Amino acid sequence: MKALVFHGNKDLRYEDFPEPKMTTGDVRLRVKSSGLCHTDFNEYVNGPFHVSATPHHRTGRSTPLVLGHEFSGEVVEVGADVNRLRAGDRVAVNAVDCCRQCEFCRRGLLIHCPAAATIGFSRDGGYAEYAVVPADCCHALRPNVSYRAAAVVEPLSVALHSVRRARFEVGSRAAVVGGGTIGLCTLQVLRACGSVDVCVIEKSAAKRRFAEELGASEFIHSESSDVQKAVLERNGGMRVDFAFECVGSETGLQTALAVTRPGGTVCLSGIIPHPMEFNWNDVLSKEKTIATTDAYNDEFPVVIAMLNDGRLRAEPLVTQTFPLKDAFFFDALRGIRAHQHQDARRDEFIARDRFMGRWRCVFVACLLNSGTRNSLAARKLWDRSWATHVPSSRGNCRTPGLDIAAWKRQMNPRLAVWLSTGAVASGK
Ligand SMILES: [Zn+2]
Ligand SMILES: [Zn+2]
Repeated sequence: MKALVFHGNKDLRYEDFPEPKMTTGDVRLRVKSSGLCHTDFNEYVNGPFHVSATPHHRTGRSTPLVLGHEFSGEVVEVGADVNRLRAGDRVAVNAVDCCRQCEFCRRGLLIHCPAAATIGFSRDGGYAEYAVVPADCCHALRPNVSYRAAAVVEPLSVALHSVRRARFEVGSRAAVVGGGTIGLCTLQVLRACGSVDVCVIEKSAAKRRFAEELGASEFIHSESSDVQKAVLERNGGMRVDFAFECVGSETGLQTALAVTRPGGTVCLSGIIPHPMEFNWNDVLSKEKTIATTDAYNDEFPVVIAMLNDGRLRAEPLVTQTFPLKDAFFFDALRGIRAHQHQDARRDEFIARDRFMGRWRCVFVACLLNSGTRNSLAARKLWDRSWATHVPSSRGNCRTPGLDIAAWKRQMNPRLAVWLSTGAVASGK
């Protein structure tokens, strides 16, 4: 089968790859759609971190390995012990392949299973024509959920898990710090869970329309406004009951704490990539609760149900799709012919696709600004690349007929590049 195979740091190849072997509890999927997460990109640029160079203790897999942990597909074959699924079923894949036997698994704390293997990092994932995954990781799609939307179930599950971890209460006022993928997913979940008011605090003004489209009561542009004042005015002199930090930065955490009322809850969704000093007395004296969240447990069926009836929306989160065979964007990034758009900061760049021999637009806002999986190392690397390359992209793009202004208008300035692997399967 054809696959995008991760061989190591900055080495990702579109090539023939042996189909993974099935066990009796597995199903074989024809992959239909896969998301590109900041974690994947970080793996490529700065890793390997999650993909082991030595065999994983449970799956035995190491590089070369197929990335992709946010994907959907059609069941084409089921193992002998699989009764719940059959060929033709449409499914989304929960990437956490846990043992389902240990004490953590029995208590439903799947993410904490010591034997857990993440699909796309510790066993082959969704950047391929076919994927072999445990039947237990597959969740049937409801009729109104497309394959493309199903690839967004994973980040939405992250958001739902965070709202559960915070013990969010119906009728509460909330703030989401960071309007990236996870921030916008969290916003939607909060609305669906009965928040009376959700403001999104974000430094990139370009994200305003996405936040507003997805239900933000107010978009607070942190670069141009006094955030605390805006929150107080909005809530009649009170701060919010719940704040969700979806950036993964010290400033983001400080903002979340500052806008939360005494007795309120701050939930940390973003991963802060370095140790930080913290005055716990500020939290203690105001009796604020700090909740933390990582990934998800059993949220997939709930998210699928909420996508099915429209309480959650995936389509506005999808900005670009590429056929897998054209998805050399990772390698295009290797050359880093990156150009900064003046008015979009680092949200966009154009990378030269050296394999395809033409200029190709690659939109990587999530890669640069992703709320949950940021890393200081990645940031530094990007800072260097911005500094060393051509100062302006305007007029430099060589794709015939490409209208940069139109392209930018269409772009969701924070989200993922999506792979439509179905295009490969159908030979287009
Ligand atoms: Zn991810
Ligand atoms: Zn377990």
